[in-house]
Amino acid sequence: MRATNLYAPTLRQTPADAEILSHQLMLRAGMMRKSANGMYHFLPLGWRTIRKIEQIIREEMDAAGGQEICMPILQPAEYWEESGRWAAYGAEMMRMKDRHGHEYCLGPTHEEMITALVRDEVRSYKQLPLMLYQIQDKFRDERRPRFGLMRSREFIMKDLYSFDKDVEGMNLSYQKMYDAYDAIFTRCGLEFRPVEADNGAIGGAHSHEFTVLTDAGESSIACCTECDYAASDEKAELAPLEAPEEDMQALEKVATPGTNTIDSLVEFLGVPIEKTIKAVAYETESNELVLVFVRGDHDVNEVKVLHQLEGALELRMADEESIRSAGGCPGFMSPIGIKAGTRILVDATVMKMRNAVSGANEVDFHYKNVNPERDFKEVRVADLRLVKDGDPCPRCGAPMKMTRGIEAGQVFTLGTKYSAAMGATFLDEQGKEKPLVMGCYGIGVGRTMAAAIEQHHDENGIIWPPSIAPFEVVVVPIQAKNPEQLRYAETVYEELKTSGVDALLDDRTERAGVKFKDCDLIGYPVRITIGPKTLEEGDIEVKVRKSGEVFHDTKENYLAHVKELLGSL
Ligand SMILES: [Zn+2]
Repeated sequence: MRATNLYAPTLRQTPADAEILSHQLMLRAGMMRKSANGMYHFLPLGWRTIRKIEQIIREEMDAAGGQEICMPILQPAEYWEESGRWAAYGAEMMRMKDRHGHEYCLGPTHEEMITALVRDEVRSYKQLPLMLYQIQDKFRDERRPRFGLMRSREFIMKDLYSFDKDVEGMNLSYQKMYDAYDAIFTRCGLEFRPVEADNGAIGGAHSHEFTVLTDAGESSIACCTECDYAASDEKAELAPLEAPEEDMQALEKVATPGTNTIDSLVEFLGVPIEKTIKAVAYETESNELVLVFVRGDHDVNEVKVLHQLEGALELRMADEESIRSAGGCPGFMSPIGIKAGTRILVDATVMKMRNAVSGANEVDFHYKNVNPERDFKEVRVADLRLVKDGDPCPRCGAPMKMTRGIEAGQVFTLGTKYSAAMGATFLDEQGKEKPLVMGCYGIGVGRTMAAAIEQHHDENGIIWPPSIAPFEVVVVPIQAKNPEQLRYAETVYEELKTSGVDALLDDRTERAGVKFKDCDLIGYPVRITIGPKTLEEGDIEVKVRKSGEVFHDTKENYLAHVKELLGSL
């Protein structure tokens, strides 16, 4: 490709509405343009990177036994009614009617479609296991699309679905996909961690998020500093923290005027915050009051709370009226004295506390010497708190560190959730009819691209890993108007292409400085400069974008050197 034929409109200024770096750089480097809110055009350079990421995914999916298919993006409502998700999905699903009045949605995901496809074809265990995937657009009508490709409404996704005859087979498929994802993100040149994740609304038992590590990420994850354990902050398991041994003192009610926050209480009583118990009052969508107690310096993990409430989907803050009607007092809560039958959840660490302080369910009063093990009645104890920096790893006990990342892929086990609901069954070895056991595995292709930029850039622009760069090498004649320089550059460009290097010839007649700025902005991994010194002395300048290193090669050795550099970046 010659730059004079390339549609790559670069921008000198940062577009005002681009909030994060990857979005700004993709716009500035002429890789994408906005079409409408949360929707984007990919221009040639951006699309080349997308296609390279897709190709890596495709090769690894095929190697793991996947077969590529393509399903329609428009999906009939009836499949979603069978699975029960037509009503449950909510406003993110873009719904519409055709001219006959039939209802459809733009596919936000494809579990229903693939289950409906497979149930008509797969009849016997002999056809299993089966892994089908596609790389295609999805649409989710985000309330607030933002961050460019991170949270767009239309996005490209690879989704693979596995079908097995039993859980053992499903776990094998899961492991194959886990390994394939590891290979994909490694080949894309990304630093990432497979993170144990919460399954969210999709259902199923087992899940990992493949998270690209970068401070710009919206996921907060806890990583062990010693072993491989990593988990999203929602999921991170926490063993109860031990409290120092103390003899239990008698419960005592004390006046604590004006201390309706933990900070004011700690100051008033002069006790360490680790000796205090705080409460958060929630209501479920069916208006059930749920009182949650954690140590004063800890925070409630609402996902863990939801897991303790069979069937509940949402939590909101309880209003004061319902707290009072259960015998509680906002700002001064305790499990002691709450009306029987009220749902009380206590974090496991709280149960280890000795002679602690909690509210007394009365304005301006607290209890001292609260010993939960002795004093709390009819409470449910569980791990309910949010992980924080330094918490011990549940596997090895070493301290965990909180870091941020971008979720670029996710692997799930689904079990028989969809197959049972939609009647996707097969006959096993004994001729018995059973539902297919499924898994699903997604990768956000555009998100992977954005994550790569968030992880690899500097003040001058993008620094692509060679495997997903729009071009691996750019050849720049300093004066393209000079026919000898241009001819020399063309020879080098042709030689690179012939030997399998993905090269661009920047034959524009712009000033060298302008071209160099564009090269740095777009982020080609290697730049070869052809100038007067090349013609006079045979010197070929090779510059590495990532390190800034400059090498002076000859016509004889530059090609081997460039290949070696590309292999090492
Ligand atoms: Zn560990």
